[in-house]
Amino acid sequence: MTASRSVFVAASVLLCCGPVTASPVPAAGQVITEVAATATPPAGRWAWPLAPRPPVVHAFVPPESTYGAGHRGVDLGARVGDPVLAVADGTVTHVGVVAGRGTVSITHADGVRSTYEPVTAAVVEGQSLSAEDAVGSLEDADGHCAPAACLHLGALRDRTYLDPMLFLTRPRIVLLPPLPSR
Ligand SMILES: [Zn+2]
Repeated sequence: MTASRSVFVAASVLLCCGPVTASPVPAAGQVITEVAATATPPAGRWAWPLAPRPPVVHAFVPPESTYGAGHRGVDLGARVGDPVLAVADGTVTHVGVVAGRGTVSITHADGVRSTYEPVTAAVVEGQSLSAEDAVGSLEDADGHCAPAACLHLGALRDRTYLDPMLFLTRPRIVLLPPLPSR
């Protein structure tokens, strides 16, 4: 009750004091996204969970509501059996099977959880891990990126899904020379 009330209060503040636009009042899911966006973590805190650095095949799409459509993580191109690595130091807080897919969650010092699926776990709940320690191996699970295989990496703060790319190394920025003036 207290937690949901504080979220409501935070959302109210955003609604009250944000930039005034002609757009309609945002839906609940959009408010959650805005709350999440206020706590932008520094990029580069997480290591990539696959080596070598994998391609991002599907980006994060914020859900429209708590149970609404969206893509609650990023999909990283991989092969079945590839070692899956912890993105940062932390403690394994969940190992299980969700909808037929092996999942592992690691809680980090800042309270953010990283989630990995489909993974055949090589760790147990309560286990401490360092960054890039093995979590398990990519499972042969149908569907998510069929016919290719991929690792779905998620990032959660409490019950809010964040874009894992906020934590991972940002792409290198290439500075282009200024355009010639006319
Ligand atoms: Zn995914």
